[in-house]
Amino acid sequence: MEVVRVENLCKVYGTGEMKVNAVDNINLTINQGEFVAIVGPSGSGKSTLLHLLGGVDRPSSGKVIVDGTDIYSLSEEELAIFRRRKVGFIFQFYNLVPVLDVEENILLPLLLDNKKVDRKYIDELISILGLNERKNHLPNELSGGQQQRVSIGRALAYSPSIVLADEPTGNLDSQNSKEIVDLLKLSVQKYNQTLVLITHDLDIASQADRIITIEDGSIVKDEKIS
Ligand code: ADP
Ligand code: ADP
Repeated sequence: MEVVRVENLCKVYGTGEMKVNAVDNINLTINQGEFVAIVGPSGSGKSTLLHLLGGVDRPSSGKVIVDGTDIYSLSEEELAIFRRRKVGFIFQFYNLVPVLDVEENILLPLLLDNKKVDRKYIDELISILGLNERKNHLPNELSGGQQQRVSIGRALAYSPSIVLADEPTGNLDSQNSKEIVDLLKLSVQKYNQTLVLITHDLDIASQADRIITIEDGSIVKDEKIS
C-alpha cells in the first residue's frame, strides 16, 4: 500500500545569482512498512526533501500526498496537526526537554495534544527501546545512545504513519549507531510504520529495503536491496 506520493516536487531557495534548486523535480512513491535510506553528498537536498515529506517546509511547486492527503493543500493549522499525528521526526541532536524525565519526554506529543495515552503501546515501546530501567531519569543522566532511544520513543509515541530521521546516528560511535538503527528498524517493523532515513554511513544504508541517492536536488539512483 502506498503511503507517500511525491509529484514534481521542487524547492527553490534564493533568487538570481543566489538561486538554489535544493529539490529539483522529484517524483517518488513509498509503500507502507518500507525502510528507505537517502544518501548523497552534503548540500544535495536530502534534508530539504525530508522536511517537505514531513510538512515542515512548503515546496515551491509540486505535491506531497501522505495517506491520501495532499498535505500542502492544508491550512497551517491542519498541517500542524498532520505533523503531530502522522509524522515522527528524529534528528542528529536529540532535542529532549531537560526538566522532563524519560517517560515524560516520550509522552510529550500526546500530552501536548490532550490525547489519551495507550498504556499498552507506550509500555511496549519503552520496553523495545530498552528504557524500562531509565523511565524516571532526566536526559542529562543518560548516555548519547540512550538519549537517542528516548527521541525515537517520542517520535513513535503517536504511532505515526511515517518516521523521518535526519542523520540519527551522526552523533554516535559505530557500536551505538548500529544499535540505534537496529532498534529503529525493529520498532517500525513491529508497527508496520514507514521509515525514511538520511545517512552518510553506507553500512547503515545497506540495512534499508531501498537506497535512494540524491545529487543536486534530483534522484540519480533508486535501488531495492534484497
Ligand atoms: P546536513 O548536510 O547535515 O543536512 P546542512 O548543513 O545541509 O546539514 O543543513 C542543515 C540545515 O540548515 C538544513 O536542513 C537547512 O534547513 C539549513 N540550511 C542549510 N543550508 C542553508 C543555507 N545556505 N541558508 C540557510 N539555512 C541553511
Ligand atoms: P543536504 O541535506 O543534502 O546536505 P540540504 O537539503 O540541507 O542538503 O540543502 C540543499 C541545498 O539547499 C544546499 O545548497 C543548501 O545550502 C540549500 N539550503 C538548504 N536550506 C536552505 C535555506 N533555508 N536557505 C537557503 N538555502 C538553503
